[in-house]
Amino acid sequence: MNSLWNDSDAQALAGDPLALRVYSSRLLGQNPDLVLHGGGNTSVKAHTKDFFGDDVHVLYVKGSGWDLATIEAAGFAPVRMEVLTRLATYDNLSDSNIVTQQRLGLLDPTAPNPSVEAILHAVIPHTYVDHTHADAVVTLTNTPNAEAIVQEVYGDDVLVVPYVMPGFTLARTVYTMTRDIDWTQIQGILLLNHGLFTFADDAKTSYETMIELVSQAEDYLEQHTQTASNNSSNLDDDHYKLIASLRQEVSRVAGKSLVACLDNSGEALNLAQHSNVNEVAARGPLTPDHVIRTKLVPLVHDTTQDPEANLNTYAANYQAYFDRHQSGQTMLDPAPRWIVLPELGSLCLGESARAATIVKDIAEHTAKSILLAEKLGGWQALPESDLFDMEYWELEQAKLKRAKTSPPFSGQVVLVTGALSGIGRACAEHFYTQGAAVVALDISPDITILSKLGFLGVVCDVTDARALQDAVQQAVTAFGGIDIVVSNAGIFPPSQRLDVLEDSHFQRSLAINLDSHRKVLQACLPYLERGIKPAVILMASKNVPAPGPGAAAYSVAKAGLTQLGRIAALELAPKGIRVNMLHPDAVYDTAFWTEETLQQRASSYGISVEQYKRKSLLGVELTSHDIALAVAALAGDSFAKTTGAQMPLDGGNNRVI
Ligand code: ZN
Repeated sequence: MNSLWNDSDAQALAGDPLALRVYSSRLLGQNPDLVLHGGGNTSVKAHTKDFFGDDVHVLYVKGSGWDLATIEAAGFAPVRMEVLTRLATYDNLSDSNIVTQQRLGLLDPTAPNPSVEAILHAVIPHTYVDHTHADAVVTLTNTPNAEAIVQEVYGDDVLVVPYVMPGFTLARTVYTMTRDIDWTQIQGILLLNHGLFTFADDAKTSYETMIELVSQAEDYLEQHTQTASNNSSNLDDDHYKLIASLRQEVSRVAGKSLVACLDNSGEALNLAQHSNVNEVAARGPLTPDHVIRTKLVPLVHDTTQDPEANLNTYAANYQAYFDRHQSGQTMLDPAPRWIVLPELGSLCLGESARAATIVKDIAEHTAKSILLAEKLGGWQALPESDLFDMEYWELEQAKLKRAKTSPPFSGQVVLVTGALSGIGRACAEHFYTQGAAVVALDISPDITILSKLGFLGVVCDVTDARALQDAVQQAVTAFGGIDIVVSNAGIFPPSQRLDVLEDSHFQRSLAINLDSHRKVLQACLPYLERGIKPAVILMASKNVPAPGPGAAAYSVAKAGLTQLGRIAALELAPKGIRVNMLHPDAVYDTAFWTEETLQQRASSYGISVEQYKRKSLLGVELTSHDIALAVAALAGDSFAKTTGAQMPLDGGNNRVI
């Protein structure tokens, strides 16, 4: 591991202890082998003035909710040192009491809650304190001979602290152990099964000591283990269906929709292909704080059992674990967040794509550490009771009570076709803002520019069944399945009366406005069957109930699509899949409506473009966003008992009425 410290960058911040603290905290945060997703914390002690101009000794410590990789000065909570050092002298304090007292000790009431490790940072008498959960250090200590190995690697350079609960218990333990020590004789504090603290009076030394100590652990691992080689996994159709079924079952047990992402990286495969995967994967987490994200252990999928049976066994084991340790806490849902798929990799689940990605990162680092520790005598996590204490920590239980309501499509996966512009784009964006993971298909390569966490842009010609199958498999890999399909892609052929209607225009309209929807439906069907609250919305047209002259190519295809939707509603109702159709009109902010098309349509009715645009009974134009709102309503709980319906969205049309 290399130091990322840059003297000239640091020089620019000289004289500002907090700015330097931000700088070196970010250096730590950039390395996922040191800290992952909000893990680790740092601090600096400094003198400042309060409102009255009096000198105050303050600990600027990482606030909760901030991530070291992106932390800013505002992410450090200024707590009065005298409050923290006084709290350290108590024999026993509850963590909720500490949260309250630390808040009262803040110099700035708008600051975030100080880290629960603030007291420990205050106990260490150096200006800068750095704390990480470095993989290499934790791996060494998650083994049967942890203390001997640590002694071999570090000698007396570090103070070794046995595992205790983070928070007050840990602060108190370190306070007691260090009351009589000579701080100049140690470079760091190593917390077994947890991580490492380093410290110094300048930011660079504290940071570089961390890098140095972690490098020693990495070197030891390298000398004593061989890196395993990893193969690749080839997924076939049945594997994708298995993924969707597992996601469906996990969501059932969790009582809410979860997004699942497949990880078939080298780390995930090495564990999934381990000869003894059932046993080694089930020994516990890398560090106890991971249980909040990943639960105690992953579900190792038993390929001889169906997904439902696998999940039932996992849930029963979780219930038994809770019953063994509980003392009045509220049980969390008993569903796994990490599934090891033997031979294939890891399936990582969360309430959102972001949460699933965090699980994926933790699972990758855990898998790597497990395999290294196996070569050092065997992976060994903390006893179950310690992990229970972390999972059911009073501070975590308190979070449950103030849990906010999730957005309506949280954990659901929505596939939208024709998603680059107009109605499709509006639908994709609306579902995304409503919490869904979105797979946005479009024939234009520009669709990939829209990709971001939880939003996958896929280039796909929806008339090509093979391209569709590939897109659907990408959706399942990224998010674990498909729940809602908005089949929207379409074209608007030029107005041509029957006497001049060109065969190619007619056929092309049938291919895109009718046949491609059938292909989309067929490609998605295996996943809708395994979906959560599955629903299909077909974008038909006002032309179905009220066709216009010159629009044969368009209207015939859309009428066929409506009939397809009605039949789909009949066929799919027994599987719980709803199919509804929308008949939009007067939506002029889409790619269909060029000035020329508007002109043509207006003249075929013998009116001006302005009159044409406002010809609805309500005299309104619709926007793509209006349609997206209706699509979301039809796909959501409001219409959970409606299928086979056709809804006009046209501002009122007397021919439709
Ligand atoms: Zn920690």
